[in-house]
Amino acid sequence: MNKINWNFKNTYSKLSNSFKQDIDPEPVKDPQLVLFNNKLAAELNLDISKISNEDLSELFSGNSLPDGSSSIAQAYAGHQFGHFTMLGDGRAVLIGEHLSKNNKRYDIQFKGSGKTAFSRNGDGRAALGPMLREYIISEAMNSLKIPTTRSLAVVKTGEDVIRETSLPGAILTRVASSHIRVGTFQYIAARENIDELNTLVNYTIDRHYPEIKKSNNQYLDLLNLLIDKQCDLVVNWMRVGFIHGVMNTDNMSISGETIDYGPCAFLDIYDPKTVFSSIDQTGRYAYCNQPAITKWNLARFAECLIPLIDKDQQKAIKIATKTINSFEKKYEEKWMNMMRNKLGLFDIDEKDKLLILDLLTWMHEKKADYTNTFCHLMDLNMEKNKLYDDKDFLNWKKRWNERLSKNNVTSMKSIELMRNNNPLFIPRNYKIEEVLKAAEQNNLKPFNNFLKVLEKPYDEQKGKEEYHCPSTSDEKYQTFCGT
Ligand code: AMP
Ligand code: MG
Repeated sequence: MNKINWNFKNTYSKLSNSFKQDIDPEPVKDPQLVLFNNKLAAELNLDISKISNEDLSELFSGNSLPDGSSSIAQAYAGHQFGHFTMLGDGRAVLIGEHLSKNNKRYDIQFKGSGKTAFSRNGDGRAALGPMLREYIISEAMNSLKIPTTRSLAVVKTGEDVIRETSLPGAILTRVASSHIRVGTFQYIAARENIDELNTLVNYTIDRHYPEIKKSNNQYLDLLNLLIDKQCDLVVNWMRVGFIHGVMNTDNMSISGETIDYGPCAFLDIYDPKTVFSSIDQTGRYAYCNQPAITKWNLARFAECLIPLIDKDQQKAIKIATKTINSFEKKYEEKWMNMMRNKLGLFDIDEKDKLLILDLLTWMHEKKADYTNTFCHLMDLNMEKNKLYDDKDFLNWKKRWNERLSKNNVTSMKSIELMRNNNPLFIPRNYKIEEVLKAAEQNNLKPFNNFLKVLEKPYDEQKGKEEYHCPSTSDEKYQTFCGT
């Protein structure tokens, strides 16, 4: 069946069995399409105009596989909370690589598609709530202009999954520029087979970084490119207050996209130590630790490349270490620029860092909402809040205005810069919970309304003020893994 213009040209499935298991999705009882992303489908040049809803449900549950697909579970390993484990797609299959008309390559993956050789003790399935959660947050991230995997469809399976209680099962169709992870390199490196490692490196360069194909310093170039990409990504997360929640090396994509929306959540009140994930007892993946963990993960990636960097292991380690240690400086520079953008500051002033840190300290001390504080600075008052009459804040604003007057551009330009970098709408945690609760009771209206608001996070939207409000509950928000 290929009624929707899939154009599969698969490459990963042609690699040897060291990299994957050939396996089809396990059929489900009664598939029913819950969500379909028409805009993304159009970007992929898919055409659903001639297909019935029933056939779409069959297609996006994996009950009928499209022509040209060749379904696999990918092997990978990962450091989970610092501990190395062999993992792999335990509840997902990559059905194929789709080429859009402009020859862009997309992995099409079903998440929740049944057991594989990598399932360990898991059931291979996913529950509806978490799949809807991934759908709305990943799409919100895309609209926030942050590299991310996308969500094309959610289908209910008609089967229950057993978690703490019995829950409706679902399958998410995830679209990514690839699913190669730091953990993929760790898996292959752990096998200590240099030919396989070379295969993976060459595959990755061909697919993601062809510009270094002819370089005589390929391995270091690859490492440097990944450092840049991941640095940009985490700076973007810090910009909007995104907390990934489970930055294990298997959840870090080589393409630099945000991947794996498990226990992620958004910062509301500014506290750098914020952690939402119930299993992250030590705060390893807290908001403020994300850059340091990114560097730690990149060091695990560098370790995989050691045998290729130089035949002399000590020399290779020295080179890799030096390269990894460039992270802090790169991060600091990118982070400063990002914060300048959030504050509408052009050029560089030696006192910028102090100005920025003083604002963050004030926000922390006064428990100010991160998103809404920047909205306030853009003269968009999301909530009437006496907080912003605070003397210390007004003093800070005075210094900020003095700095703004040094900009060599019009104030219009400065506002424009702020408007492009400060979202007005984020997927606020309690709102996400609210719309998921309704969706689980078969009412998708609140979910779709919120999804629509999140499509234009930088725009003012009349009548949508309720979505700006921080939670009024004192209860600590918690997210969960293993969903
Ligand atoms: P995650 O926490 O989603 O990054 O998953 C970590 C690992 O656990 C991956 O190898 C997943 O494939 C696997 N996994 C998570 N949930 C399940 C499940 N229900 N059944 C089988 N494997 C799972
Ligand atoms: Mg994962």
